Amino acid sequence: MTQDLFRQDAYLTQCAASVTAITEQGIVLDRTVFYPLGGGQAGDSGTLVLADGTVLAIADTRKGKDAEGHATADIVHVPAPGQEEALARLKTGDTVTARIDWQRRHRLMRFHTATHLLCHLVPQLVNGCSITPDYARLDFNMTDPLDKDTLTAGIARLVAAAHPLTVGEITDAELDANPALVKSMSVQPPRGSGRIRTIHIGSEALIDLQPCGGTHVANTVEIGAVVVTKIEKKSATTRRVVLGFAPVAEPAAPQ
Ligand SMILES: [Zn+2]
Repeated sequence: MTQDLFRQDAYLTQCAASVTAITEQGIVLDRTVFYPLGGGQAGDSGTLVLADGTVLAIADTRKGKDAEGHATADIVHVPAPGQEEALARLKTGDTVTARIDWQRRHRLMRFHTATHLLCHLVPQLVNGCSITPDYARLDFNMTDPLDKDTLTAGIARLVAAAHPLTVGEITDAELDANPALVKSMSVQPPRGSGRIRTIHIGSEALIDLQPCGGTHVANTVEIGAVVVTKIEKKSATTRRVVLGFAPVAEPAAPQ
């Protein structure tokens, strides 16, 4: 089982970790700052720096799978092509420094948080979601048309209002008593541990509250210039909203 440091602090860019397994899928660590693909959010890329200074490039991060294909509590760091030499130097038990591509992750965090703002602006159930470093899309289960400029203005207003984001948790029973908290038809909150992670945006005014396991910025102002680039009628009952960045300078990585 990999300790997922990004769940409590999405701003951690690196950590020391021990290699617990090297498999066909990739490298499993005892703890990591790498987010594995899930909930529509892309897996992180970055590097593992070995004790001798060798840099092993990581292209993607996935949840581990058992022999039957079921997800495990392991987080697997998938090496980029051409890493055979670095991989040959790595063995189970070694200590490495795991470092994410922060610029890429920060874009994912900004887009991901912006999708929560869309949930506030479009109070309909979501039946699809994809968050990449270059764009995000959210599919709403609805038949009414949506207006691109109105949504872009709505996002800009919520970003400028600098609403804080907090991570909380509720019990399975609390979620059962408040089924409307689940806004996604396609991604069900992970159950079984008895507690479910929630994301809360807003202080005096509640902007959004829903179970979510992804990585987010701490305040909506950090989302910056995100705009709606496209609205598509994906099917008779699905409206797809695509988000992109307006061109601005990237912020520096935290120390
Ligand atoms: Zn989220």
